[in-house]
Amino acid sequence: NAKASGRGRFTAFGVHMDVIIRERAEIERDLHTALEKPGQFEVLYQPKYRAQTGDLISVEALVRWYHPTRGWLSPTFFIPIAEETGLIKALGRDVLEEACRAAAKWQIGSVAVNVSPIQWRTPAFASEVRSILETSGLDPHRLELEITETAWMDSTSTCVANIQALRELGVAIALDDFGTGFSTFGRLHDTEVDHIKIDKSFIDGLGKLRGDEAIVQAIVDMAHARGLKTTAEGVQTPEQSAFLTEIGCDELQGFLFSEPVSVGDIDKLLAAGGKPTRPQS
Ligand code: C2E
Ligand code: MG
Ligand code: MG
Ligand code: MG
Repeated sequence: NAKASGRGRFTAFGVHMDVIIRERAEIERDLHTALEKPGQFEVLYQPKYRAQTGDLISVEALVRWYHPTRGWLSPTFFIPIAEETGLIKALGRDVLEEACRAAAKWQIGSVAVNVSPIQWRTPAFASEVRSILETSGLDPHRLELEITETAWMDSTSTCVANIQALRELGVAIALDDFGTGFSTFGRLHDTEVDHIKIDKSFIDGLGKLRGDEAIVQAIVDMAHARGLKTTAEGVQTPEQSAFLTEIGCDELQGFLFSEPVSVGDIDKLLAAGGKPTRPQS
């Protein structure tokens, strides 16, 4: 019977354990399939604007999965599964190829791509990026690779070697979700990054009497003292945009300006002069 074979157990949420395990196995299998034939993944691009001028200067590539039966799936759901199964290597390469190919056609700006800790720990990663750059014809100075602050903190020697090799090539490195990983400002002293992305949670706190103004200002000042550029992610209100511009934050990204959009929409934005479609402040 079910009990004797260890099946039919409930989790704390009352969901059958075997249902979760079966769903998970299905998603894994579907990820495999999706990677083999094109069409299920789409790379969207979210604009990043120069705070002082409102010019579109860069976009961040964000992957989407249109599952044949489950519909649209969030990367926060399937990226962890891709990481646990190692499929992130193939998926990450596809996203990088797509993003470099798209950016090579644009006359201006850079493209930022999220890179999983698994990819950073792969010895061949830097040379893979180099060959993707060559094939696409994208100038390495127009590529930025993101590493989360947490991954960067416990980075292995392979990861550090990849970062160094890519920086030598001219690729910029950005610390993503900065402020969530409890890294000390001191660690930035001897580091190998170019850019800091201040986590959305701090931007959310602006204007809410939580003291986040002081924290965000400190991050921007500290970054500048180290010669690093700053981007605020998740900017949603004109007040946040005005404050960030006033304290000298370099780049702004968030739903106030644009959600992630298709490559065709970015082409149109650039053709129209690259100004935000919504008022900045
Ligand atoms: P992230 O790199 O920190 O990306 C920012 C996330 O915040 C994106 O969610 C973006 O759509 C969302 N966002 C941007 N502005 C706003 C805003 O004003 N308000 C709100 N509520 N959200 C905003 P998304 O696209 O769902 O991606 C979530 C995470 O999944 C990313 O966080 C990144 O860690 C991961 N991810 C996405 N694409 C890739 C990929 O190609 N490779 C890897 N390794 N990770 C990816
Ligand atoms: Mg990111
Ligand atoms: Mg981020
Ligand atoms: Mg984030």
